[in-house]
Amino acid sequence: MSTIQFPPLTPITSPWMKDLMENKKVVRELFEQYGSPINVLNTKPFRDNYKAYRSVFETHNVQHQVFFARKANKCRAFVKAANHHGFGVDTASFEELEQCLQMGCDPDKLVLTAAVKNEQLVRLALNNGVLIVLDNKDECALVNRVADDLGIKPTVAIRVSGFNFNGQKLYSRFGFDIEKVEKLVTHQVGPNHTYPNLRFGGFHFHLDGYSIQQRTAALFQTLRLAQKLKQKGIDTSFIDIGGGLLTNYLSSGDEWQTFWNELNKALQGEREPLTFGNNALGFTMHQGEVKGEPNVYPYYNETPKGQFLDRILSSKNEQGVTAASSINEMEIELRIEPGRSLLDQTGLTLAKVAHRKKDQRGNWLVGLEMNRSQLFSSSDDFLIDPTFMPMQSSGQPRVPTAVYFTGAYCLEGDIILKRKIMLPRLPEIGDAIAFPNTAGYMMHFYETRSHLHPFTTNLVIDSNLNGEFILNQFEE
Ligand SMILES: *Cc1c(COP(=O)(O)O)cnc(C)c1O
Repeated sequence: MSTIQFPPLTPITSPWMKDLMENKKVVRELFEQYGSPINVLNTKPFRDNYKAYRSVFETHNVQHQVFFARKANKCRAFVKAANHHGFGVDTASFEELEQCLQMGCDPDKLVLTAAVKNEQLVRLALNNGVLIVLDNKDECALVNRVADDLGIKPTVAIRVSGFNFNGQKLYSRFGFDIEKVEKLVTHQVGPNHTYPNLRFGGFHFHLDGYSIQQRTAALFQTLRLAQKLKQKGIDTSFIDIGGGLLTNYLSSGDEWQTFWNELNKALQGEREPLTFGNNALGFTMHQGEVKGEPNVYPYYNETPKGQFLDRILSSKNEQGVTAASSINEMEIELRIEPGRSLLDQTGLTLAKVAHRKKDQRGNWLVGLEMNRSQLFSSSDDFLIDPTFMPMQSSGQPRVPTAVYFTGAYCLEGDIILKRKIMLPRLPEIGDAIAFPNTAGYMMHFYETRSHLHPFTTNLVIDSNLNGEFILNQFEE
């Protein structure tokens, strides 16, 4: 048996997570009180992540604002923390915006990027002076009409897409095509134009994926647009480059590489599967060869968070001018809307073992008191090793055992992790499994109540109260 039989993917875990994962007494009490699963959250790393972005902006002397993309986690604790530490929140629905306003967020530090905006939402934003990012002409007309009703002239942002990258246009269903935006700003927005109540403030874009090069290209193209407008006497106050700044979840690039090598072998039938049903995680097989790209987040990467931002700001255009100096020269404020990366290290999910069984193929299946929607993202798998927390002394021999974790939905596909995970022994009923770093998207974005199971309990560690847990409610 070689050591890479089921290659590990060791997560980066912060000290507060390690403390909790070593504290069986606390975890047992939490299960007794709240059932399983439980999301535990801590806002301290959230603040540190914000400060890291701030210091990169400061190094480049760039005027900036950071907006936390709320959709990545529903807990109010993050809105409260953003408020407390002086940064903003990006909202995407009536409820998200209303809750932020009720919690006392400064409207200047809120932005509304909702993909669909009805009149009620537009009214809420305009009544409170919240910046609206416009996506299409119907929205321009709606905001113009509501502004007329209210007798105001709101500043708006225009969402831009269709950037050129390597000779091709980057497709997006969002925003206005960059080639049409100059005319929109000069001939349609503003006094005596189609939308006379609107005042142009700046641009916004958010790109799919995680490419630094694409973001850099989009930023330079937006800066060029701003330059053209300046020549016509129209100032661009800000450019918001959205989110998608990377998070690094894993501690070893070698482990990451080994995993993909072994998966490749398994898909070609050269070794036993290391994913449930030999799941290809997005690859396809063509005449015995593995083709395509995996459909998973780049859980291991070497340019997370501040380094990602620094690479954008330091990048140069054809004239050799950096993005940071162009931005500064034009007195533009640069804005970002990170979701996932601000939530790095802020949450983990605990689940309780309900049963163990061997399936027809001889795999150990460990049933957890949770369902897959409670740890789910758009990736084909969450490629991070969970931590096994034995809660009692075991009659099981300490024989390393590889298992799949299964969930409570009546679906063959309710497999919590597609990867087979090597544990030091088979778990006992009542043992705990801790999934680290789940606060970004994994907890809430896809959570459903298909069998009327309650939503996961969310608990926030209040560091001032010495490890006391505060129940965080977002559902009502
Ligand atoms: C989803 C989204 C974000 C956040 O993206 P992350 O990848 O979580 O950083 C920011 N802005 C907009 C408009 C979005 O749709």
